[in-house]
Amino acid sequence: MINHYFKKKYGQNFLSDVSLLSAIADDAQITKNDVVLEIGAGAGALTAELAKRAKKVVSYEIDKDLMTVLTQNLRDFDNIELVYQDIMQSDLNEIESKLGDNYIVAANLPYYISTPVVMRFVEEAKKIKSLTLTLQKEVGERLAAKEGTSDYGTITVMLSAVADVKITRYIDRTFFYPEPNVDSVVIKADFVGNKYDIKNFDIFRLLVKNAFNMRRKTLVNNLMASYKISREKAENFLKEFNIQPLFRGEELSPKQYALLSNNIDLLKTP
Ligand code: SAM
Repeated sequence: MINHYFKKKYGQNFLSDVSLLSAIADDAQITKNDVVLEIGAGAGALTAELAKRAKKVVSYEIDKDLMTVLTQNLRDFDNIELVYQDIMQSDLNEIESKLGDNYIVAANLPYYISTPVVMRFVEEAKKIKSLTLTLQKEVGERLAAKEGTSDYGTITVMLSAVADVKITRYIDRTFFYPEPNVDSVVIKADFVGNKYDIKNFDIFRLLVKNAFNMRRKTLVNNLMASYKISREKAENFLKEFNIQPLFRGEELSPKQYALLSNNIDLLKTP
């Protein structure tokens, strides 16, 4: 084991099993033409597997104490750029200009930023091809959930509006050092563009957020409260798109949310 004081606040749970790391890198389907962005190099174990497959790897690491170990562990590679910065404080436009078109994100994410990282790529990324992320099992299952299940929520709808998502593998907590108190999954999200032709993502986000903020309420009650409209108006709006008024937020598909948000102006007409 490396000589490093593991920092819980940075979510430092490292992987060292080479066949597992190799399988995660395979899940990302990297070719020699691809540029990869890694978030959280750690001791460089996944970075090395990514670099073996990619044209270039740009890896962000917040903890400068890992500099010596990373330089040592990755000394045989000439296609890795290490950036000692907080990814959450870095400008995604600037990062993207370094990566070029169709870059791949691959990471064993620190748990504390997994949801904000995913949201950031959903909302801000312009040139991304795919995300392959190791994250807490519960979060991964939420990202890949189907409508009608209790895991299905705002982030599921937001991600599936721009990407096709699947779980590629389950990883037991015993594979990590130090061992966390949760298991993990790897998810792969292939970005396929605006597949439901959403006209305005701000309106779409607000509609989805409202629907899940009051999860126990029916959609009609939700629309009435969020858009300050009458029951009749809310019911007619849903009927127009063949949606049952008694449905709850978790019963609507991402495509149905897109349809409603594209036509939200109907709620404003007298
Ligand atoms: N990739 C390594 C592995 O698989 O063993 C380490 C994974 S560990 C779960 C997460 C890594 O992300 C840690 O090295 C941690 O210091 C780094 N990290 C945490 N927060 C970060 C941030 N905001 N920006 C960049 N790196 C971060």
